[in-house]
Amino acid sequence: MSSAKNIRNIAIIAHVDHGKTTLVDELLKQGGTFRENQATADRMMDSMDLEREKGITIRAKSTSVVWQDHIINIVDTPGHADFGAEVERVMRMVDGVLLLVDAYEGPQAQTRFVLKKALAEGLHPVVFVNKVDRPNSDPEAVHDKVLELFLELEATEDQFNAPFLYGSAKNGFAVRELEDEAKDMIPLFETVLEHVPAPKIEEGQPFRMLVSNIDWDDYVGRVAVGKILSGTVSPGDTVYVARRDGSRVRAKLTRLFTYTGLSSSDAAQGIAGDIVGLAGFEDVDIGETLLGDPEGEPLPFVDIDPPTISME
Ligand code: GDP
Repeated sequence: MSSAKNIRNIAIIAHVDHGKTTLVDELLKQGGTFRENQATADRMMDSMDLEREKGITIRAKSTSVVWQDHIINIVDTPGHADFGAEVERVMRMVDGVLLLVDAYEGPQAQTRFVLKKALAEGLHPVVFVNKVDRPNSDPEAVHDKVLELFLELEATEDQFNAPFLYGSAKNGFAVRELEDEAKDMIPLFETVLEHVPAPKIEEGQPFRMLVSNIDWDDYVGRVAVGKILSGTVSPGDTVYVARRDGSRVRAKLTRLFTYTGLSSSDAAQGIAGDIVGLAGFEDVDIGETLLGDPEGEPLPFVDIDPPTISME
């Protein structure tokens, strides 16, 4: 599993209650959660109290599922327009999106808001029409509504030709055609591996990573989360933070986290293409670049959430 070819990074897009949590749980159940290269388990993202209180997803979180020698990193996207810049950062970190739509309700406001950004970023969706077990569901009508939405959001022809799967997260199955026999989630795993490209990495270059998010761990402090664009990284390495103000700050990495299932674990090495969390910084912010080479080129700064624009 030590190559970018075996990694898929996808963002999951769903309106609230369309079944995101149920689907991810089911994928974890049917896929594996074990990674090579993994040390002691250590939860780092437990402090989501604010989210629970407000009942909205306030930041992106990652889950990782292992399927046939591949790591599928699934990044959650906040559906609320207040987090527009965060959605953009997530879209730059992933190489495809899984669009989850309720087979009764069809696409809703959050589906539309996040999908628009994904399409604008050039990502190709895989569509999962969920809850086909509901007696009043109409998956064919929802299929057509999703296509109408693609047209309205000016999807390219390739984006428009998205693969559709139908299923029930609750009952643990996905099928390519509605008349196919309902068995398991394998068709969904296969479609993701076929249709989502492996992460594009810069071969033979030193370590470089754009910080897409910051997590907090009581023991290690700020954890910079992002996708490694080139090179490898290990605890003990010296990296340089290209700060927003143009300065460079040296840091010695103390911990490296990769995602395993719903939590994160210490790992000995992070490779290009994977989404990791790094600790050991006195200060680091979203949008800044981490560099192995002190003279390396930072990536364009992606701003922290700008003033709210009205919800569509
Ligand atoms: P989320 O808000 O998108 O994370 O949605 P959840 O996964 O929490 O699901 C919302 C509700 O829909 C829960 O009551 C689930 O049990 C239910 N649900 C999820 N998937 C299915 C499905 O395939 N069929 C049916 N009938 N209900 C489902």
